[in-house]
Amino acid sequence: MGRICIVGAGFSGAVIARELAEAGFSCLVVDERSHIAGNCHTERDPQTGVMVHRYGPHIFHTADEEVWRYVNRFGRMEPFVNRVKATARGAVYSLPINLHTINQFFGKTFSPAQARAFVESRARLDIQEPRTFEEQALRFVGEELYRTFFYGYTKKQWGVEPAELPASILKRLPLRFNYDDNYFNHPFQGMPRDGYTAIVQRILDVPGVELRLGCAFEELDEPFDHVFYSGPIDRYFQYREGRLGYRTLDFEAERASGPEVDFQGCAVMNYPDPDVPFTRISEHKHFAPWERIPDQTIVFREYSRACGPDDIPYYPIRLVNEKAMLLKYEQMAAAEKGVTFVGRLGTYQYLDMDVTIRRALDAARAFLTARRPRG
Ligand code: FAD
Ligand code: UDP
Repeated sequence: MGRICIVGAGFSGAVIARELAEAGFSCLVVDERSHIAGNCHTERDPQTGVMVHRYGPHIFHTADEEVWRYVNRFGRMEPFVNRVKATARGAVYSLPINLHTINQFFGKTFSPAQARAFVESRARLDIQEPRTFEEQALRFVGEELYRTFFYGYTKKQWGVEPAELPASILKRLPLRFNYDDNYFNHPFQGMPRDGYTAIVQRILDVPGVELRLGCAFEELDEPFDHVFYSGPIDRYFQYREGRLGYRTLDFEAERASGPEVDFQGCAVMNYPDPDVPFTRISEHKHFAPWERIPDQTIVFREYSRACGPDDIPYYPIRLVNEKAMLLKYEQMAAAEKGVTFVGRLGTYQYLDMDVTIRRALDAARAFLTARRPRG
């Protein structure tokens, strides 16, 4: 039985490595970064002691019971509900758009039924099958709410007009006619008590897994029985068909200290106004309220821009050009013997952590079913 190479020590790579190692395979996990957990990496800020999500705020939420049990096996999940606020046009509102947002925005005291009827009266019901982000927003919330909460944020986040983006991006956000301000609909939600990196560490901590950090796949010169690749699919093929488009993020940190210091009073504040250059500010100590760090804080302003060759790819753009290019890469990937492409970069898709884990479990199981080792 040969050795398996797993490229990337994020959730994709770690979960696959564990499943295969538990089944008796010897696995080498390589990651070119100096740390594990990929974009979910958490670490303590040395100056403030706050646990920070280095590549942007991550909240675990899922409807997949097996995945929820899986993460709970490797770390304690604390109850956490993401309650996002938005500063827009000189006022602070509750997100996702809910009855509070609607009443405050329109200066009303609507009941749920009245709010529904009112928003429907503003909605563009003539748009029967919304195809773009803009059409989807106009169809469901109407012009005023769209312009205030979605237009500017989306233009900053994606760098294009919302009329050029697919409706699917907006479909991720709920619209509610009650006072529920939970950002997600999923039944299982939480935040790992010791951070995501500790969870990934425990997933990888099993006999049969060797971890090599600071090592790119391209540097390896040894034979493998099979490769699971969670790096960028276009990079694997030396960008032969061109570079798939991503948005990257810049995080601007600001620290403050003092008794009961609190920068914004919540974990995430969105800034949808087009003239504010950043999209949101995250104050990370509010992601771990059980830690009680009263006298220190750190916040990150988040700026989105086009991803250059040396930047970290964050959000796959998936517009028309990318889709055609992706199809070519997918065909090349399907023809590549002995390699399975996984994860957000290997499949060029925005994947939440729970979906990433589900896909990794499924990929490992499919491999094991085909190749179960003897003895
Ligand atoms: P990654 O975490 O990107 O791991 C891939 C690893 O492979 C990286 O460490 C990289 O260094 C390594 N690598 C790549 N190429 C090579 C190579 N050639 N050689 C060696 N190593 C290589 N999900 C949620 O569920 N909730 C959230 O709140 C949430 N918030 C998010 C916020 C932001 C800003 C972003 C961008 C994503 C968010 N996500 C969230 C999604 C989450 O980040 C992904 O689900 C997760 O990172 C996917 O894990 P992965 O292992 O597939 O990829
Ligand atoms: N969005 C927006 N205004 C907001 C929050 C989100 O217009 O205040 C849009 C934006 O286009 C974003 C999409 O809705 O990309 C999905 O939002 P989500 O919060 O899921 O973004 P993500 O977690 O992907 O950053």
